[in-house]
Amino acid sequence: MDRQTRIAVVGGGLAGLTVAALLQRNGYPVAVYEQTPNFSRIGAGIILGANVAKVLRSLGLEPSFTETGIRPDAFVSRAWDSGETLYELVFDAACEARFGGPFVNIHRADLHRILQTPLAPGTIRFGHRLAGLEETPGGITLTFDNGASTEVDIVIGADGIRSRVRDEILGHEQPRFIGRIAPRAVFPAERLGDLAIRDCTKWWGPDRHVLVYYMTARRDEVYVMAAIPADRWDGDGTPIPGTRDDFVSALEGFHPELLRAAEAATDVSVWPIMDRPRNDTWHKGRVVLMGDACHAVRPFMAAGGSMAIEDAAILHRCIVEATDTEAAFRRYAANRIPRVAEVQRISIANTWMHGPTEVDWFFAYDPSTAPLDAAA
Ligand SMILES: Cc1cc2nc3c(=O)[nH]c(=O)nc-3n(C[C@H](O)[C@H](O)[C@H](O)COP(=O)(O)OP(=O)(O)OC[C@H]3O[C@@H](n4cnc5c(N)ncnc54)[C@H](O)[C@@H]3O)c2cc1C
Repeated sequence: MDRQTRIAVVGGGLAGLTVAALLQRNGYPVAVYEQTPNFSRIGAGIILGANVAKVLRSLGLEPSFTETGIRPDAFVSRAWDSGETLYELVFDAACEARFGGPFVNIHRADLHRILQTPLAPGTIRFGHRLAGLEETPGGITLTFDNGASTEVDIVIGADGIRSRVRDEILGHEQPRFIGRIAPRAVFPAERLGDLAIRDCTKWWGPDRHVLVYYMTARRDEVYVMAAIPADRWDGDGTPIPGTRDDFVSALEGFHPELLRAAEAATDVSVWPIMDRPRNDTWHKGRVVLMGDACHAVRPFMAAGGSMAIEDAAILHRCIVEATDTEAAFRRYAANRIPRVAEVQRISIANTWMHGPTEVDWFFAYDPSTAPLDAAA
């Protein structure tokens, strides 16, 4: 598409920052409209595979990504009570060669900071909460809660699970609470004392699971996150403070090693786990969706953020290569829907890497070079 195409990205999360950086590098005038006045250091980690590392590589960000986060030696699945190893995916040089990149665990705020570095100063317009969109003869007008407005040619909705842009395409619907809450905590590794933990472990219980992993190359920060059954959630999507005692008592019967890690946690917060049913309508007119705005999946495959970053790579390629908006968006959706649908199916089943798993289709995929299905 014409390099004069004016592009607004709504939402400065993983999806929005990545697509903005890729489009800007290709010469498009892009602005990111982000509701928050600034980014804060939200206490959470994220697991990302080689499929994501390859997108960051295309932006020149792979060194800072891998030097800030940790390249774990393995992903280990263990039985909740006996501690038996159910599956271990070792991330050695042969594995990295097979996938074409590393596996990285990182603090989300660190990833956010890294994703902002390629953007030209002023690209992110903080304090701009989207209020409405209106198609005009010359384009599409965005209005914001702060009274500002702007006209562009295309709008990319990257505004997360409660997307305002999604409302414009699909009508307003609340995300669904899946009957699980996620207590989570980030704490200094020294609190583990003499407890030796592996770099990245998922403990599988009958109706709940817990992830424990380092988030930094220095192995000085630990992240724990559980998924625990809960009948209801009365709040919105924002977390509430939790307690370590409640967290530990929800893990009764778990292996002593896991319990010791949970007992080391400080500043526990509790998040609702939400998703949305599959949706195959990803665009309308001049507006397109990506990331959680389009396909919020439950975090049981640890793949929602990966899908957001993959979306960015494919959407930017479709925009660059197409002659018009409709063709670009149609091609993007056709290429993404099958893969995202499979991730959604596995995330609901919560089976990923529980036992021996065929993982190459996921990690070896390169969104920067994968052929874009011609039939699309
Ligand atoms: C407990 C948990 C653990 C997870 N772990 C993993 C993991 O290990 N690996 C993984 O790949 N994924 C993981 N995920 C999923 C991942 O966090 C999300 O899929 C990912 O953050 C989606 O990115 P996004 O950019 O689409 O949305 P977001 O990161 O939610 O960003 C949306 C942005 O839009 C802004 N915004 C919202 N509304 C407006 C508006 N009206 N106007 C302007 N701006 C707006 C928001 O402030 C925000 O900055 C996890 C999710 C959860 C809940």
